[in-house]
Amino acid sequence: MNYQGLMRLGRIQPRTSKILKSFGHFQTTGSTNHASYVSTWTPFAAAFNTRPQKKLNLRLNRENAGLFCIPELKDHTGFYLLKQNAEHQVSKLVEEASSKSRKRKIVTIFDELSDTLCRVADLADFVRVSHPRNDFAQAAEEICVELSSLVERLNTNLSLHTALKTVLEEGDVVPTDALDKRVTELFMFDFEQSGIHLADKQREQFVQLNERIHMLGTFFQRGAQKPVQIPKSKLPENLRHVFGLDGDNIMVTGLFSDHYSSIVREAAYRIFLHPDQHQAEVLDALLTARYQLARLVGFDTYSQRANRGTMIESPDKITEFLDLLSDKLKPRSKVDYDVMLRLKQEQERGAKEIMPWDPPYLSAIGRQQRSAMANMDSLPYFSLGCVMEGLNQLFQCLFAVALQHVEMEPGEAWTEDIYKLAVVHKTEGVLGYIYCDFFERFGKPNQDCHFTIQGGRRREDGSYQHPIVVLQLSFSGPRGASIPTLLSPGNVDNLFHEFGHAMHSMLGRTRYQHVTGTRCTTDFAEVPSVLMEFFAADPRVVTTFARHYKTGEPMKGSAVINLCDSKKMFAASDMQQQVFFSILDQVYHGPHPLNGSTTNILAEMQAKYYSINYVPDTAWQLRFSHLVGYGARYYAYLVSRAVAAQVWHTCFKDDPFSRSMGTRYREEMLAFGGEKHPRNLVEGMLGKSPTVENLVDSLIYDMDESVKSLGQL
Ligand SMILES: [Zn+2]
Repeated sequence: MNYQGLMRLGRIQPRTSKILKSFGHFQTTGSTNHASYVSTWTPFAAAFNTRPQKKLNLRLNRENAGLFCIPELKDHTGFYLLKQNAEHQVSKLVEEASSKSRKRKIVTIFDELSDTLCRVADLADFVRVSHPRNDFAQAAEEICVELSSLVERLNTNLSLHTALKTVLEEGDVVPTDALDKRVTELFMFDFEQSGIHLADKQREQFVQLNERIHMLGTFFQRGAQKPVQIPKSKLPENLRHVFGLDGDNIMVTGLFSDHYSSIVREAAYRIFLHPDQHQAEVLDALLTARYQLARLVGFDTYSQRANRGTMIESPDKITEFLDLLSDKLKPRSKVDYDVMLRLKQEQERGAKEIMPWDPPYLSAIGRQQRSAMANMDSLPYFSLGCVMEGLNQLFQCLFAVALQHVEMEPGEAWTEDIYKLAVVHKTEGVLGYIYCDFFERFGKPNQDCHFTIQGGRRREDGSYQHPIVVLQLSFSGPRGASIPTLLSPGNVDNLFHEFGHAMHSMLGRTRYQHVTGTRCTTDFAEVPSVLMEFFAADPRVVTTFARHYKTGEPMKGSAVINLCDSKKMFAASDMQQQVFFSILDQVYHGPHPLNGSTTNILAEMQAKYYSINYVPDTAWQLRFSHLVGYGARYYAYLVSRAVAAQVWHTCFKDDPFSRSMGTRYREEMLAFGGEKHPRNLVEGMLGKSPTVENLVDSLIYDMDESVKSLGQL
């Protein structure tokens, strides 16, 4: 879907939801012989340790409230009605914006326009990928396509553009402040991203390029996941059973990077990453089209266009950041690879070097040895309910907000096992709602995700439009009545991470929804989520919730420390790989024509930035699907990580439960969403501007502190 200009993807309208005080009725099937431990859970934890079930007795006499409590969405046809209403509203707003006798601020009208579109488009975008019912998913898909063309029409609406331009040049008809100006500029920038200011011929070219990029991106992503088939005669007999068989062919679906046998990993790596001519051509065409598009709208490169307004801003500075980081990582990564090689030699006598297919498996072994606990042994201490209670308590300490389980109306959720949470502040009341779609199901995308369904904004009557989001994860559900969902350490990290995004949405109080919560620059968007991973790796935090689901017994202090230490291992080698991917993304989106094929560039960059050698006849970049979504911004995750590390070490390391720091963090960073430039957010929180040097330093400092605590120095 191609939404640009007026929209950054966004959300829907909630009806009041009742907050439940008691959750006793959720334990409908709890068998009595487990009463001793069940009774040790808080009601909140207990709710998450029991799969939500249909409460028929309650629902029979209650009417279907519609999906997300939108009355139109009692069935899928409501989508068409929502779209019609939105179109009607949009044309009224367009008229108002272009009118000579306009009474309201232009930015207010634009934000309402954007909100009207986003509330339907974001909702439809979520439903089309996540609703298990075909009729809903299909209607949503249709709406997405139709809204996309409506947005396309608006993006070429000259009178809208002129109205905005006039305000920026001559001021508005009513007084405005600095925030109005910034958001007006953002609208203008997003508008011009769609080429409205170009002459007719160029604009036509622009539209064509845009369509082409969208199409090529979809092709590339599809190709990146495609399994590889080879005749089974090409593989030694003892390996064939590992991969799927399809007649006389063997089907390799992925890298098998967790497999214990290095021969299997190697075979999968070489087969899955064997260069595919067609996919290479798609990538070339995509990169070329992006370059041409950027040039057409006046930028030197696609990277320059993609990074305007970000923390580091210019492609040169981004490369400087990655180069500096790379230099500092080299000696530190070597230590990691030496450890990995020793582990490999324990399994294969005479092993001489680490190959690209080794690190995920070997680092998992290393972590397991460090935690002195197999994953299986730690699982019982991390039931979903306990971890959710841990998050709840942490947020109460930091932000004075509680997560409260809310009973849903009939028809409100898209499937049965959804939990709805109200995020309630001690004095401000309800801040927003989080729908938790946590369990795997057939057809559900297997990717952790935060969806904005409705963005927060200050309405003209002074009330606040509540943010509504969905957190999607893929845990296996509770097994039977007595075994709740149990999370691996990695699952716990992911849950904390996604809640970082959700709280960014909930704690924001932006005036405009165009910049609500996570709608900020890519390099700031991961700061709140990565920061949560620091909390998840801190023994003082983990101790508050790690308890055996059966006995209620807390995890031993030494086990918690070992587990937290194990999460800090191999940080340098992991990051070195991220730097390598990031630089590749930068070079691909730099000046064109490229200096050789994408595979040659990969080999060249690998030699320069990565300690593990390139394997001839492989083309990893053809599987790098993030090139589509993160084009020229893959590095942004590292910047977010650097800022999160600064915030952690400066503000929370001494006391991860500090209310005063939590308040400061909300007031200086989270509250603003994208209202402020990310640099100003960092300055407000930390009292210093982010620079290439201090960002790199904070990543390295954090790494060295971890190594110290691991006792490897
Ligand atoms: Zn994230």
